[in-house]
Amino acid sequence: MLYLHIPFCRQACHYCNFHFSTSMKYEKEMIQAMIKEMEYRRDYLEDKKLRSVYFGGGTPSILEDNLLGNIFEAIHRHFEVEDEAEITFEANPEDISQEKIEFWHSLGINRLSIGIQSFDQADLNWMNRIHNIQQSETALNLVDDFGKMEYSMDLIFGSETTTDEIWIENVKRTIRRKPAHISCYALTIEENTPLQHYVNKGQKKESPQEKIRTQFYQARMLLTEAGYDHYEISNYSLPGKNAVHNSSYWKSKSYLGIGPAAHSYNKKSRSWNFANNATYIKSIEENKTAEVSEQLSEQDQYNEFVMTRLRTKWGINKEELITNFERRFSDHFFQEVKTSIKAGFITENESTFALSEKSLIIADTVSSDLFY
Ligand code: SF4
Repeated sequence: MLYLHIPFCRQACHYCNFHFSTSMKYEKEMIQAMIKEMEYRRDYLEDKKLRSVYFGGGTPSILEDNLLGNIFEAIHRHFEVEDEAEITFEANPEDISQEKIEFWHSLGINRLSIGIQSFDQADLNWMNRIHNIQQSETALNLVDDFGKMEYSMDLIFGSETTTDEIWIENVKRTIRRKPAHISCYALTIEENTPLQHYVNKGQKKESPQEKIRTQFYQARMLLTEAGYDHYEISNYSLPGKNAVHNSSYWKSKSYLGIGPAAHSYNKKSRSWNFANNATYIKSIEENKTAEVSEQLSEQDQYNEFVMTRLRTKWGINKEELITNFERRFSDHFFQEVKTSIKAGFITENESTFALSEKSLIIADTVSSDLFY
């Protein structure tokens, strides 16, 4: 699994804490550095065959065509991409045109993840998104007309301007498009974001937890009624259309992350690249990549297993827990989970433990109670 982080955006969305720059100053140097990083980290993954390639960011759709072409040329030079591989490209509505769709598809991109966020203009303005509703509709029409690329739509709920009525309409309007995949994220106020600054100054308001909870379950109800499978806390798909890439994260598969701020994981260790464009480029020139690299203890691996598996509808498989971890971890789990079951947070069947309906919204708390 390969992840490429494209660290540029046209405008800063106020809630965003991903790494990006609104200056395109280092665009060429960045892509050269990412290609070089791919070259010397090609052996990081044991399995050279890629089942999924994911372009995230930042805004991948901002990239110049020739630079994107260079990245694809490097991917094929250093890795073997399976014929059926899922190749996802995050695209924002304002960048989507017929020419771009055709070009992206000619490179092998077969899935777009489109940052719609809301169909309400006041909501988009509150988030400081650069696009408007008309651009979203045009972009979706173009992808639908093209017909050869699946797509996922990203939506955000729980902002100050998102009333329950607006949210329900956003979800219904999304369902009418019948995308293969839908991600619904709760708006959170992250450290060092413009949103946090405005909230601290009293210029914007944080929504009460009750509103976030209500909107989470409104989406769940509407989407599951429309035939979507709620397979992970924030993700829904039509049958058979789970995202290969995201599912791999939750199933603890190895991945190589290329680009500034990208994370990598190979079951035994985890590393982070520098989250600064100039520093990242310089570090690659000096043949260094990771800012931090850490070996994962069995305790870390167990905690991560509990946290990621519980986020999914498949939950924790008892057999897998017993086989993969030392006895003290499974003993701990089986002891502690009794309290969670009694409280109605976890359900148990013959082979698995999973979150109950009411605990989906408090997944992190429920998992941390089971940590070792
Ligand atoms: S939400 Fe996406 S488009 Fe907006 S600033 Fe963050 S990475 Fe860029």
